Amino acid sequence: MTVTEAAPGLAGRMSRVKESPSSRVADRVREFQAAGRKVLPLTIGEPDFDTPGPVKEAAIAAIRAGETKYTSANGTPALQAAIRDRLLRKTGQAYGPGEISVGGGAKQLIFLAFLATLDEGDEVIVPAPHWVSYPDMVTVNGGSPVLAAAGAETGYKLTARALRESITDRTKWLVLNTPNNPTGAVYGEAELEALAGVLRAHPRISVLCDEIYDEINFGTRPVPSLVTVAPDLRERIFLANGVSKAYAMTGWRIGYGAGSPELCAAISTLQSQSSSCPSSVSQAAAAAALNGGREFIDETVAVYRERRDLLVSGLDAVAGLRPLTPEGGFYVWTDASALSGARTPEGRVLETDADLAEYFLETAGVVVITGDSYGCPGHFRASFALDSATLAEAVTGIGRAVSLLRQRKS
Ligand code: PMP
Repeated sequence: MTVTEAAPGLAGRMSRVKESPSSRVADRVREFQAAGRKVLPLTIGEPDFDTPGPVKEAAIAAIRAGETKYTSANGTPALQAAIRDRLLRKTGQAYGPGEISVGGGAKQLIFLAFLATLDEGDEVIVPAPHWVSYPDMVTVNGGSPVLAAAGAETGYKLTARALRESITDRTKWLVLNTPNNPTGAVYGEAELEALAGVLRAHPRISVLCDEIYDEINFGTRPVPSLVTVAPDLRERIFLANGVSKAYAMTGWRIGYGAGSPELCAAISTLQSQSSSCPSSVSQAAAAAALNGGREFIDETVAVYRERRDLLVSGLDAVAGLRPLTPEGGFYVWTDASALSGARTPEGRVLETDADLAEYFLETAGVVVITGDSYGCPGHFRASFALDSATLAEAVTGIGRAVSLLRQRKS
């Protein structure tokens, strides 16, 4: 439901938040399935692999050992230690216990970071295309999202210039998501250094670094972190991550954050008055995942890479579609602007992203998420967190659907 005015009985802030487009699409998929139609859901936002066996065993052992009580709002000492080790390995930064937050997914921590820091009218710079949730999380917490262009011309990355132009007296946060959802773009060290240069001139601005996809990395080197490139900015960086994507643990709901002691304490206060703490059993599982070896990640990334290549080459072979090869994550971002204005065999003109998505669904049973959901119309996002046979069938279906279109009127 898109709410434009808060319904009777609801707070005014509910007029500033809408349901996530992914949940809306999931409802549409269910409708189709209920009608007995086959659907190829290239909308999937979570790994299709099972959680690694040793992680499940750690959870079972925790249950047997009676680790079934409330924990500290900031997580168990064991999980805290596993997170700090992981952060040290990744960023070279030694975070102290008071500089770590643990929550019910990176999503909850990002929400709480905004709740803890935004006053009415504060601005948050969100490079677009962007993960669907950032603008709503900002607005429901009283802030104003300021979308900054980070499109194809700049490799889907925010440049120092675009950042500088977006900053005002009200800017509180910059959001940096690398690898990016939906584009799969990864910021290189020089690109991060250029942004750090601008940030040094604006000491009031904090940076939310969302690195939830950092382990699903197709590059030859680890995904760089802003905090490694610019350790002098560490107090202003809130690094958000979690076990959902790397270890196929979306349903366990454990995320973590690293940042200033003040922000982490504020998040802990909010946790203590809302959820109390994340699930104790999930925390034991997350600690086992972070302390475990890299085999699961290496194996799954090899599979993702094959699927990525299949999906990119398949979409690239379709006239009118221009897929971007992602450097990380499990989504292919595709420019479909050449199909705007084309006519379906029934004579319907494809005007919006939603028209194209609906056409793919009706003609080929393929579901994608529209570019406008990410603040960038003329595109769609297709996930490859699905088996290769399904991806191949979806690519064939999209190719057939596009071949039936009549060119736009010129
Ligand atoms: N950030 C981004 C960019 C995401 O795509 C997601 C998951 N869709 C999250 C954060 C949230 O992940 P978690 O399961 O840890 O809440």
